[in-house]
Amino acid sequence: MVYVHIPFCKSFCTYCGFYSEICRNPGLFAGYTDLVCAEIDRRREEILASGKVNTLYFGGGTPSVLPLDFIRRITKALPFDSHGYEEFTVEMNPDDVTDSLVAGLKDLGANRISLGIQSFNDDILARMARRHNADGAIRAAETIHRSGIQALSIDLIFGFPSLSDDIWVSTIETALKLHPEHISCYQLSIEEGSALEKMVAEGRFKEASQEQCRRQYDYLCHTLAQAGYNHYEVSNFALPGHEAVHNGAYWSRAPYVGLGPGAHSFDGNAVRRWNSEFKAGSLGYDSSMEELSPRDIAVEKVMLGLRTSAGLPAKVLQEITGSGAVQDALSKGLLEPSDKTHEEPWLRIPEDKFFVSDDIVSTLIP
Ligand code: SF4
Repeated sequence: MVYVHIPFCKSFCTYCGFYSEICRNPGLFAGYTDLVCAEIDRRREEILASGKVNTLYFGGGTPSVLPLDFIRRITKALPFDSHGYEEFTVEMNPDDVTDSLVAGLKDLGANRISLGIQSFNDDILARMARRHNADGAIRAAETIHRSGIQALSIDLIFGFPSLSDDIWVSTIETALKLHPEHISCYQLSIEEGSALEKMVAEGRFKEASQEQCRRQYDYLCHTLAQAGYNHYEVSNFALPGHEAVHNGAYWSRAPYVGLGPGAHSFDGNAVRRWNSEFKAGSLGYDSSMEELSPRDIAVEKVMLGLRTSAGLPAKVLQEITGSGAVQDALSKGLLEPSDKTHEEPWLRIPEDKFFVSDDIVSTLIP
């Protein structure tokens, strides 16, 4: 399972807290690609060992600003057949989607495009400082389908203060007309370092009420269920058979290797590593690591497992939180038996409580 971080964007979105650099000098792309290829050489053994989950994911930043030749060079430097991945995803900005770029990615072996649409309302897109407008997002989704790529995933955001319930209803209606195999939908949050954080501090931006967010989330869950989507993780919905393999492996704590500045890696047990951002004035980056304590591991298992509709084995949950806490949560309806077929019983948060899943996890692990 390999993640490649492309830390370049053409402009910054107001809500974004991800590490990225505005790319004013496309001449940097070659140097960046050399560095990632050198990192692949250095970490070859680790990459091979992470191949049990057979996925490749180009995320960002905005991978679609990197010219195809450079994406090809990185893909070919990896010690796997680029056409053999179970899932090979590239994140794209709608504004970058062209027939030729999507066809080139498909030729390379990509079988899934994750399209950052966020909204179909031009006023909200402008407030988010997205590069595209609604028509551009629709055209991009149509181009991706036309290319014959196996799966299209789209990202949407709810809980933006000017996102009225009426706009949200039409947003979902438009999304469903595009027939994406997968939908990721996130509640707007004020991220550290984002423009919105500054605007909130200056009193220029007021967050939507929790009631509005809850209403919009409930409508989303209900409407996507009716349209045949499986709500398999708090923020993720898929048509049957299109659940994200790569992200699914994060939630089950599988090992992964993250390449490029700002990327994180995990050994599947207790060691996390992360690359620094670019050092000032250079393309270089360092790597650091931390060893998780048994308590950190336990907390992670509960936090990640209970985000999914499969949940966690009851035995694991009881060992971590104590059987009293689990019984209490069961009696209050905050946990329920998972309907997945397992040899031993599993427990999960009921879907109608996904919206408050963080609060439930906090009561289980104070
Ligand atoms: S949301 Fe995506 S495109 Fe916008 S600034 Fe963040 S990484 Fe770049």
